[in-house]
This record gives sequence, structure tokens and C-alpha cells, in this order.
Amino acid sequence: MQIIETKLNWAGALAKRSTIDMIVLHHAAASNCSIYQVHKWHLANSWSGVGYHYFINKRGEIFKGRPDNTIGSHAKGFNSTSIGVCFEGDFMKEAPSQAQIDAGLELVEYLKKKYGISKVKGHGELMATSCPGKLFPLERFKGIKENLVLSFQMATYADGFKFPKYGCDGTWGSETASVAEKCVVKKRILYKYKNATKLVQRLLGVEQDGKCGKITAQAIKEFQQKNGLEPDACCGLQTWKKLLGVK
Ligand SMILES: [Zn+2]
Repeated sequence: MQIIETKLNWAGALAKRSTIDMIVLHHAAASNCSIYQVHKWHLANSWSGVGYHYFINKRGEIFKGRPDNTIGSHAKGFNSTSIGVCFEGDFMKEAPSQAQIDAGLELVEYLKKKYGISKVKGHGELMATSCPGKLFPLERFKGIKENLVLSFQMATYADGFKFPKYGCDGTWGSETASVAEKCVVKKRILYKYKNATKLVQRLLGVEQDGKCGKITAQAIKEFQQKNGLEPDACCGLQTWKKLLGVK
């Protein structure tokens, strides 16, 4: 993991601290920005400079903000002992990139080990704010295992499928299986199952544009080959079951 030094000029001395007990996650609430811009914005608030300790852009590059042993300015009431990590993007409107999530998970693990801490919070868990956004996978950062069946149900529900009997309950059963049978993600369906396609793309580690093109179809085929399924590059019932880890 590489942390890029930024040599920011601080407006005044940053207050030192000796205790770190928590990591707080944020989004920039701006689709395109750099740590240098955020630094300027925070200087304009009459702060000493960027309030976060780390900033991760959409390419997954990690930039250093305030030194860890100084007090940040990112979560009122919790600044004195927490490390603030901010992600470029507005996750009320867009999801973070795979590169960003990977870099973020790596950074959080590194900081947890370095400081012997385990507490990871989203900004919105500490005060009334939507930060880091509803499309940010906070559970993964908190080490809570994702319920993939629930993610599948939510994605296909958003694509227009219905779950009249059981709803999106996170449990695999006949109702969910019949949706998986109908919701076949394959080449040339384009935007028909946009959310389901994004889920396939996320689970296979390809760019999440919601459109099953050449790269996504190839990734499905490779996944099928690895898992002893018929390599037809169509994600139907059997491939969904493997992807979601259900029997
Ligand atoms: Zn925040």
C-alpha cells in the first residue's frame, strides 16, 4: 500500500494528541475533487487545512492529510481521538469505484493494526448526516459480512422484479430462485437489468457501469469455467447461485 505525501501548508499549528481509538469514514459529497481542493475548501472554513487524515480518490490512490498524531476536523465531538478517512465522490448519487473500495479496506486494516483499534464508524453513525452516503458499502468496512442474497434481492427489486410473498428478506428460497432464473445477465441486454448487472460486475471485480459488454461477459465466462459451470457467459440461475454462495 502506498500513501502519497502531499506537503500541504497548514494555516497554523495542528494540535497534537496521544490517543487514537476510532476510524471515521466520509465521502467528499463532491463527485470530482482532490485532496488539494478539499484542503482549500477547509481553509476557507477558517480551519487549519484539510480536516481528514487520509483521502482516497476514484483511482484508489491514498493521499495523506493531517498527520495521525494531530487532531482532525471531520466529526464534531469525536475529533480528538479519531482518524478521518475521506473518499472522493458523492455516494448519495454514485457508488465508490472498486479501486477505491479495495484501497479503503486496505488502509482501514493497516490503521486498525497500527493503532490496535477495532472501531470503524460512518460519519452518519455519530451525528445526523447522510455521510458517507447510502451507496457506500459501510458494512464491508465495519467487517460485517455482506448478505449477498439480500444484495441480489435489492438489486433485482430495483430492476423491477417483485417479491410479493417474502419481500427482500435476505433469505434464499423459491421466490428468489425464480427471480434469478428470469434475471439473466448476458451480453446485449444492455441496461435492462442495470442493478443486477452492477452486482455481477462488483462480485467479479470489473467496472460497474451496469451494462453487460465484452469485458463483463468474459468475466462471467471465466467465473463459470473456474466453478465447473457451463461457460455460456450468461449469468442465470446456476451462476447466480455460485456468485451468491447459495446451495
Ligand atoms: Zn462526513
